Amino acid sequence: MKHFDVIVVGGGHAGTEAAHGSARMGAETALVTLRRDAIGVMSCNPAIGGLGKGHLVREIDALDGVMGRAADFAGIQFRLLNRRKGPAVQGPRTQADRKLYREAMQKLTDDQPHLTVIEGEVADLIVTEGKVSGVILADGSQLAAGGVVLTTGTFLNGVIHIGDRQKPGGRIGDRPSVALAARLRDLSLPLGRLKTGTPPRLDGKTIRWDILDSQPGDDDPEMFSFLHDKPFVRQVSCGITHTNEQTHEIIRENLNRSAMYGGHISGVGPRYCPSIEDKVVRFADKSSHQVFLEPEGLDDDTIYPNGVSTSLPEDVQERYIRSILGLENVRILQPGYAIEYDFVDPRASKPTLELRDLPGLYLAGQINGTTGYEEAAAQGLVAGLNAALCVQSRDPMIFSRTSSYIGVMIDDLVTRGVSEPYRMFTSRAEFRLSLRADNADQRLTGVGLALGCVGEERRRSFSDKMERLSAGKDLLASIVLTPKDAVSRGLRVNQDGTKRSAYALLSFPDIDFNQLAAIIPELGAMDPKIGEQLARDALYAHYITRQENDIAALKRDEDWVIPDDFDYSALSGLSNELKLKLGRARPHTLAQAGRIDGMTPAALALILARLRQGR
Ligand code: FAD
Repeated sequence: MKHFDVIVVGGGHAGTEAAHGSARMGAETALVTLRRDAIGVMSCNPAIGGLGKGHLVREIDALDGVMGRAADFAGIQFRLLNRRKGPAVQGPRTQADRKLYREAMQKLTDDQPHLTVIEGEVADLIVTEGKVSGVILADGSQLAAGGVVLTTGTFLNGVIHIGDRQKPGGRIGDRPSVALAARLRDLSLPLGRLKTGTPPRLDGKTIRWDILDSQPGDDDPEMFSFLHDKPFVRQVSCGITHTNEQTHEIIRENLNRSAMYGGHISGVGPRYCPSIEDKVVRFADKSSHQVFLEPEGLDDDTIYPNGVSTSLPEDVQERYIRSILGLENVRILQPGYAIEYDFVDPRASKPTLELRDLPGLYLAGQINGTTGYEEAAAQGLVAGLNAALCVQSRDPMIFSRTSSYIGVMIDDLVTRGVSEPYRMFTSRAEFRLSLRADNADQRLTGVGLALGCVGEERRRSFSDKMERLSAGKDLLASIVLTPKDAVSRGLRVNQDGTKRSAYALLSFPDIDFNQLAAIIPELGAMDPKIGEQLARDALYAHYITRQENDIAALKRDEDWVIPDDFDYSALSGLSNELKLKLGRARPHTLAQAGRIDGMTPAALALILARLRQGR
């Protein structure tokens, strides 16, 4: 039997990031996946990032992960969403060339030391003395490991729905993972069913582009990776069109033929990523919805119509799509469909994403009830790093909600579970002023260096940037202007007699670095990128100082780790309902206990008192 330190099952977004994370830690890692040539496939939209999601990609990149780099190599249209709003809620996004993304991910995977790709279907798990110690492939071969990470996406018992037609599938063109799903059921894991959908793909040669609006990318594109500063390939525009009353009428008339509305699907779908059927029903007063026509690649005429995912039968898809302006003669290359699949309740996992009751087995990605490539990749990173740390007998790496969106997501999942596919939003992060996409490296690369998952190239570029930020901040702090000085140089500041440093002036929302550099000659030599970063830091410095007390309080509670075998039933004074809830949720820390539904300060005090006795 071949032996690895860590085995990762699945070469999707969670799996690749898990395998790379584990291998970067020096653990001998096997990535076992159904098809080697499908590593890095995007099952749905050809885009990476967006609000909240872009933050996750930057954090993965800060820890030297691969998603951001691959997205930059394949990016054909970069946009910073919410550019006009504050930096805290801006999200980088790129339209990606599907083929280039897949190729980039496969090249990065081939080049990664300590990582071996094995093509095959994992059909079973080897469990030795209550611990997962390897996998069995469908051909009967066995692989042993200290830790196994499962990232099987939408494949577990996957069923594809188009109207009233169903067929087993992991996604279109791929078979589902049935044997492994049965094994997870046998192991009594808490399984549920979710669904998601995708739109039909269109032939761009049959679209009337000349009558449609187009949306170009940003003039000054922002990359995902802190290692890159400009796109690698030609940039393109997207088209924009809209559904209309006729489209909605066709959909309404045929609702009972949709898999979702015809009662063929029991799984819950993502409320925030609704199908066109859902939009027509839920927003009945709207007579039109925007549709972005997104190219799937530079030398590919396939167009992804973003906003019209569906599980209607093919003839209805053709009718409603052709009712849309510019799509009157469009040819559908692949019908839209919905997919239903098994997931495991993430409350069964620890914050390392290892199952509490089945040590050695880690779950990451869509299998944990999330949706989206970025959410999957971020979990993959957490699971891969922790599987490697465990094999190396080192302390686990637990991401805090105070310092990363990754921490917010993992905490949400393992504490609250999911009632619909979980997607990241900036509103989920209570400390979002400090958890910005622009400062992900300042927050996390140092952590990654200490852990050992950051390579030499990034170490050098990060330390160089930190030195330049520090020198730049010192320079800005040393230049002091009176209000009179400031006004005489054209700046709008309060005439309150307070002298302000150039750094303090940057905290004014209407003063930016370029303005200061134009009127303060000493700043002329500073790299504008460094200046702009310092301006973003300065803008929030005041609020962040105010948030620090809340962060410190939460960190204190996170330091109180609750043992897995903590006996809530023995706590007199705790209501039976809370005993039950806490016993089921088994929060990892006092902070997590505080976030459980119905938790009271008095109940927390009781738990804290018992933990103190134990110290
Ligand atoms: P996947 O990317 O699905 O990768 C799973 C991998 O596991 C595959 O490589 C597969 O070959 C491998 N595998 C499975 N079983 C086995 C096995 N037994 N042995 C070996 N390998 C195995 N996301 C959104 O954000 N918005 C959307 O609107 C959206 N719509 C979607 C619509 C459809 C139809 C589908 C299929 C997905 C959609 N997604 C959407 C979800 C997005 O594709 C996933 O969130 C993301 O791909 C999850 O990544 P993952 O790594 O968990 O799984």
